[in-house]
Amino acid sequence: MPFRGVDYMLLDSQLTEQELLVRQTARRFVDERVLPLIRDCYRDGRFPSELIPEIAQLGFLGANLEGYGCAGMSNVEYGLIMQEIERGDSGLRSFVSVQGALVMYPIYTYGSEEQKQTWLPRLQSGEAIGCFGLTEPGFGSNPAGMLTTARQDGSDWVLNGEKAWITNGSVANVAVVWARTNAGVQGFLVEKGMPGYSVSDIHGKLSMRASVTSSLSFSDCRVPQTNVLPAAKGLKAALACLTQARYGIGWGVIGAAMDCYETARQYTVVRKQFDDRPIATHQLVQEKLAWMITEITKAQLLALHAGRLKDAGKLEPAHVSMLKRNNVGMALECARMSRDLLGANGIMDEYPIMRHMCNLETVKTYEGTDHIHTLVIGERVTGIPAYR
Ligand SMILES: Cc1cc2nc3c(=O)[nH]c(=O)nc-3n(C[C@H](O)[C@H](O)[C@H](O)COP(=O)(O)OP(=O)(O)OC[C@H]3O[C@@H](n4cnc5c(N)ncnc54)[C@H](O)[C@@H]3O)c2cc1C
Repeated sequence: MPFRGVDYMLLDSQLTEQELLVRQTARRFVDERVLPLIRDCYRDGRFPSELIPEIAQLGFLGANLEGYGCAGMSNVEYGLIMQEIERGDSGLRSFVSVQGALVMYPIYTYGSEEQKQTWLPRLQSGEAIGCFGLTEPGFGSNPAGMLTTARQDGSDWVLNGEKAWITNGSVANVAVVWARTNAGVQGFLVEKGMPGYSVSDIHGKLSMRASVTSSLSFSDCRVPQTNVLPAAKGLKAALACLTQARYGIGWGVIGAAMDCYETARQYTVVRKQFDDRPIATHQLVQEKLAWMITEITKAQLLALHAGRLKDAGKLEPAHVSMLKRNNVGMALECARMSRDLLGANGIMDEYPIMRHMCNLETVKTYEGTDHIHTLVIGERVTGIPAYR
């Protein structure tokens, strides 16, 4: 059955024809191409790289960027794509987010014209894959403590250090790597095969199993001056990329929540217990469905408003923190409630719920943990930073 959407408050009436068309395209792609294979990918711990050419052809990579082969979509259209893809799987959405928001966006925003011409068309077409190296084994929530260094040596830079938990790492042709220099943090394009650069995958994940997660290592890795992102000065340049990705996450997780809710709704009206009555006839079950649809609707409103603000150039990082924190928390709670409503069946991968739930545990942690976004909001309303 094709997915018919979750729209309690007639929010579709707030979307343009073009936005509805983009969503429908993404929805059909997920129904026809992602859902038939994602359970096995998750079981096998395999990233479905065979989907990349189609994702690229649909214009979903760097969708909200202009030129260099990019689709130039609005931020609401981009958000709707993220929502549909994450309805399929958070790992696949992570691939699209990293490629667009964390690799193409920094090259687009901070890169030289030559870097843009070299990389953006290839990244858009899926011919090249990218990753974003900020987190280190000892520094996650506090990237300002990073130990990776870059030292200038003639016309080259020499990188030393290690990055951890990097999505797409071992499949990436180019890594956007953040390192400490004499002039503060700077961004570098490290290409696969450069001497001193090595990658190894992280195994044993019980979350994001359909996504590649790697460690990157730099041992006197020599990078030419032409691979320095000239306008990426200071940690704030890296954080601005994260704001782009977090915006997409704020939309994406609604898709995972919709899938969990809709699975539970359909299950509870059919599953019978006590006097041969559907479990949906019980008030405690309805209370959970009512909670979920209410929270999904609030999350949809928040995402749509954030998208309109972004299209108007008015979305601020503190707004994005609220979007990411609220919507991820909402989606995780929907997954847990839906799992409960399916009883024993809820733990099976025949249903998507447990997979979404495990994925959302990562989504709660990456791109700024729930705590960190709480502190961003706290700082915004009090003027007092409480990170330390
Ligand atoms: C599957 C996966 C993919 C990822 N992909 C990427 C990627 O592509 N690129 C990349 O650079 N990184 C990536 N990450 C890393 C991710 O961004 C970090 O895991 C995240 O920033 C949290 O860092 P940490 O794991 O070191 O946790 P920590 O920072 O050690 O935090 C652990 C706990 O302490 C809490 N905490 C920390 N400081 C405070 C504080 N001041 N106040 C209150 N609580 C606090 C946190 O909220 C959390 O609950 C990925 C992670 C995962 C799991």
